[in-house]
Amino acid sequence: MAHDLVLKGGRVIDPASGCDTIADVAFAGGRLATVGQGLSGADERDVAGCIVTPGLIDLHTHVYWGGTSLSVDADSYARRCAATTLVDAGSAGPGNFAGFLKHVIEPADVRILAYIHISFAGIFAFSPTHMVGESQDMRLMAAKEAAEIAAAHPDRIVGLKVRVGRYTSGANGIEPLRLAIEVAERAGLPVMAHIDEPDPDYQDVVRLLRHGDVLTHCFRPSPNAPVDADGRLRDGLRQARERGVLFDIGHGMGAFSWSAARAAMKAGFPPDTISSDVHVLCVDGPAWDLMRTMNKLLALDMPLAEVIRAATETPARALRRDDLGRLAPGGVGDASVMRLVDEPIELEDVTGQTLTYAQRLLPQGRVLGGRYEDCAL
Ligand SMILES: [Zn+2]
Repeated sequence: MAHDLVLKGGRVIDPASGCDTIADVAFAGGRLATVGQGLSGADERDVAGCIVTPGLIDLHTHVYWGGTSLSVDADSYARRCAATTLVDAGSAGPGNFAGFLKHVIEPADVRILAYIHISFAGIFAFSPTHMVGESQDMRLMAAKEAAEIAAAHPDRIVGLKVRVGRYTSGANGIEPLRLAIEVAERAGLPVMAHIDEPDPDYQDVVRLLRHGDVLTHCFRPSPNAPVDADGRLRDGLRQARERGVLFDIGHGMGAFSWSAARAAMKAGFPPDTISSDVHVLCVDGPAWDLMRTMNKLLALDMPLAEVIRAATETPARALRRDDLGRLAPGGVGDASVMRLVDEPIELEDVTGQTLTYAQRLLPQGRVLGGRYEDCAL
């Protein structure tokens, strides 16, 4: 059978199906057709020496460009790291989601999904000059309205976002999270919870989270690191994982520390999902993008297939979108193509600590809706 597009001879890693083999990946009619040997098509791309994965999902981004000061441009960002799905983490709230949908989500090439913030206008004051925690004023907490907007856009909105911590909820402490969970429980939605410095404490936040909820910034530095001063994993984290809470990197400018990550992983607690938390204050470092963040987990000896799972299959599960994050015949026509080259790379965390790793993960291309696009830097 002739296909529209065939990626020829790459190392195909699809953790959802347990596939790790040299193969061709074919697309037809905008969808993934099959993975196999000796496939042919109208547009054949030689990807020998490259890694072919399901379309990468960045579970925590800020892409309401122009509508919120913290956001970056979705399409140029996604191309830069060969991602096919970006999940905006609460840039917009119920008061300004309509603009996000019309001016950004709908016109974008890349698929954009969103956790809608319970803050009425989302994250509205985040810049080098103005930094106001939206959860510091309970009058702005509009969880019910957020759930109503979510119900109206089930194809785009995947859950509720809330930020709690010293810099985001201040004197309100954990209250905004309680409110988010109460409303999410009634609406049948998952919650993505942000933490920064205490209060509230890491464990107190995790204790409230349910099956399918996401804790983002899971490997942030002390205070509120995942481990105590002796490097022991905090109480309650394993139990939370057992009941289905997902631990997300959410790198950003303040939430990825080598020492916290190393200690947590040494304690047998790798992240469930890898995300960049890209925004204007971290896109030129220290986070850069999803692929650089994946490179950091590789540098911490997380196996390559697990790093890929954490940016494909597991985020798809968090989104309740089992059509994404896998190479399924007849399924979504997305894939990402990257190279892992033997070339040293200097990797920084948010505390300024750097680590040199022997291998660099580089974007090569992506397939979106069955169409190939070059993403090589
Ligand atoms: Zn964020």
